[in-house]
Amino acid sequence: MRIAVLSFDVEQDCPPYLGESYRGVEEGLPYILDILSQERVRATFFSTARVAERYPQLIRRIVDEGHELGCHSYAHERLDKLPGSTVASLLEKATAKLRRFTDQLTSFRAPNLKLPQSLLPVLHKLGYQVDSSIALYKPPFRAMPRVEYGIVRLPVTVTSSMLRLPWRIQKRIHDVLPRGLRIYFAHPWEYIDMSWARVRVDCRYNTGEAALELLRKLIGYLRGKGYTLVTISEAAQHVEASRQD
Ligand SMILES: [Zn+2]
Repeated sequence: MRIAVLSFDVEQDCPPYLGESYRGVEEGLPYILDILSQERVRATFFSTARVAERYPQLIRRIVDEGHELGCHSYAHERLDKLPGSTVASLLEKATAKLRRFTDQLTSFRAPNLKLPQSLLPVLHKLGYQVDSSIALYKPPFRAMPRVEYGIVRLPVTVTSSMLRLPWRIQKRIHDVLPRGLRIYFAHPWEYIDMSWARVRVDCRYNTGEAALELLRKLIGYLRGKGYTLVTISEAAQHVEASRQD
């Protein structure tokens, strides 16, 4: 079965470079939600608790429109660089804040995909069932979904800036990625014009309108190839079911 997940990490603009700027959330996130609604796709939004404090109406919109809400830490802290006890209390606070919007908060992704293994039992205790803080393209290159400490770990398939390459180039990459389960991710700030920003070139390239058009193309491409677009929790259920076969 071909399953694809579109996921978005909802955070400040291009952390850690732009500090407390939230134009991506204010302008980019509504564009993404509009496209998903037009295309009838449900996605997963990993949000920081800070975004939920500042923009509760947008988090409500995510949930009301049938998307999955996941946790992306409190304020985009690097979880691998803080003491374990600090991280545990940050995650507890973030989880409580986000659960005000839904009792179905069971998926997690760490900022910069940096999740120390020691935090898996902490996540499990907080009621998380899915973690997507690993990637096919990062060491240790864990290509297969796996279950650790009761948590289904689903690797991200490609880095987000790849989804802003010109379609004729990007399509060739999609054509050769592993079939079966694909997990794509991007950020709201990629869907506003970042060409002005003093950030790395891969954070500025083809942002805004161009990125929105490419998102539409990706959805059409995946459907054309027979992929079903689901939330990350639903993908985890498929993985679990196939492991039991
Ligand atoms: Zn992030």
